Amino acid sequence: MKIKLVDIIAAVLLIIAGFIFRHQIENLVRFSSIYAPCEKPITYSLGLFDDKFGLSKNDLLSAVKEAGTIWEKTAGKQLFGYTDSGELKINLIYDYRQRATDKLNDLGITVNEDRASYDSLKARYNTLNAQYSQAKAAYDARLALFNQRQAAYNQKVQSFNKGRSASKAEYDRLRAEETTIKAELTDIQKMEAALNEYVSEINSLALALNRLVSVLNLNVEKYNEIGASRGEEFTEGDYEVNNGNQAINIYEFSSREKLVRLLAHELGHALGLPHADDPKAIMYKLNISANDKPTAADQKELDAVCTPN
Ligand SMILES: [Zn+2]
Repeated sequence: MKIKLVDIIAAVLLIIAGFIFRHQIENLVRFSSIYAPCEKPITYSLGLFDDKFGLSKNDLLSAVKEAGTIWEKTAGKQLFGYTDSGELKINLIYDYRQRATDKLNDLGITVNEDRASYDSLKARYNTLNAQYSQAKAAYDARLALFNQRQAAYNQKVQSFNKGRSASKAEYDRLRAEETTIKAELTDIQKMEAALNEYVSEINSLALALNRLVSVLNLNVEKYNEIGASRGEEFTEGDYEVNNGNQAINIYEFSSREKLVRLLAHELGHALGLPHADDPKAIMYKLNISANDKPTAADQKELDAVCTPN
């Protein structure tokens, strides 16, 4: 009687499989020419809403309302209004940005927008990177050995299956080898999970560091993420027009104050306002000020689109 052995199915080991990064399309289009802004309110409604942010729809709507009021007070008229099918969609999108923020929170890491915070994150980033490189080298070496051993085993199994006089002793040896290989695979998968943990933390730190580099205006190279090649800025949110459909996309929520400011900035774009140079302005390119009132620069831009000569 002949006993059949089956090849161990080659394990496909994929590191960093958990890190699929969505490419973000920068799409800031000046919109004022499409209609006359300020003449009638822009209607808005909720679009995509991910509850992983821990915000309720009412929380978000009340933040949008407050953000709209910032411009309305200045303009002296209603500029925005909620309707169930409002044209401007407000989307709350949970992706790598919020995941990174949540990850650092979970690790008890607070990111302040100052140099000390940058330095301590940078030290942690460097340490983790060194640990990751060591762990990755050990993993690669072990994986290479595993692949050799598995290939050798599969070859022996094939000749065993072809052999006319396969012995019981050889069969037992092969079964024992199979058990060892499977145990080895389990260990390798554990190493892989540990590597993914490193990757997750390193990438979260890289995002936070890159943002601090632009907020603090530091003259340093951007921090690399592992397994990602986005090369884009960390964006908390954006305003986009696609085929005439307008949307405000929110990618990060850390506090209500920042969210209201971010929404006010994006609503400003919806009115047709460009960026202003004043770092305190709502329309400054970075959300770094705590100022929640339009500055002279904001006012000037609003006047320009709302009261054209
Ligand atoms: Zn902007």
